[in-house]
Amino acid sequence: MDETDDIDDEPAPSDAFAALSDPVRLDILDALTAHHRSEGHDPIGFAALRRRVGVRDSGRFRYHLNQLRDRFVERADDGYRLTATGARVAGAILAGTYTESVSLGPGELDSTCPFCGTPAVATVRDGQCVVTCGEEHPLFSWHVPANAARDASLSEVVDLAELLAFQAIEQALAGACTQCYDDVETTVGDPDEPGFRAVCDTCPARLVGPISFPLLVDPDVAGWCREHGYTLREDHVWEFPFVGRDAAVEPAGADADGALVVTVAIDDDSLTARLDGDGRVVAVDTE
Ligand SMILES: [Zn+2]
Ligand SMILES: [Zn+2]
Repeated sequence: MDETDDIDDEPAPSDAFAALSDPVRLDILDALTAHHRSEGHDPIGFAALRRRVGVRDSGRFRYHLNQLRDRFVERADDGYRLTATGARVAGAILAGTYTESVSLGPGELDSTCPFCGTPAVATVRDGQCVVTCGEEHPLFSWHVPANAARDASLSEVVDLAELLAFQAIEQALAGACTQCYDDVETTVGDPDEPGFRAVCDTCPARLVGPISFPLLVDPDVAGWCREHGYTLREDHVWEFPFVGRDAAVEPAGADADGALVVTVAIDDDSLTARLDGDGRVVAVDTE
């Protein structure tokens, strides 16, 4: 019997989630995750897995196990193990992504709004971390998994959300959606309305930010910022003097296919970056 068939026969998302609709199946994923943690990629035998999950009826157990194959669980040699998809889904479920909601704040951060000087205020609700101020200037917003927020302080959650947002920018610039990993196109708008956007056609993921976002993940720009006293991860993104304002944008030229030249300043120094039409930094000039 061929255990690796049906590779081209992708089930609909609703079928995939239906396969996870029974507590026994979630317990199986949980047990396989625990096994994976201690034994690595080696499969676990049917009887040992059944004991671990704690189902006595072997026919009933086999029925539920089969519902997870072949998308989440695969048969290998003399046992079963998680597929790569199974490991991701198990991780998300155990992380509470689909079930839990954690609330934190509102609370003041050790930071001020660059627009009005009042304290920055963070709130975590429904998996979203939002930073604003007394005047309600929008400073930052990104989603955080429930388990990351469960035992963390508000400022720890904000730091993590910023890290995730910057990883998302890098991933979008590499052409992959941060949620579903389908191809995603990034754009930079035009000089009159510049802005970094990555909107997925497949899933609801959307990343919209100032034109300076792709600059911040460029190593040369990051180095220049550090020389001027601003370090990503140590300083909040809204504290960078040129994020959200003060970026001069002009077209890179008639034949440049949507490329932009963006000039930003810290104190009296300026940096000029050339972005291609996808928002990738292709040249940096700090003269
Ligand atoms: Zn403000
Ligand atoms: Zn997507």
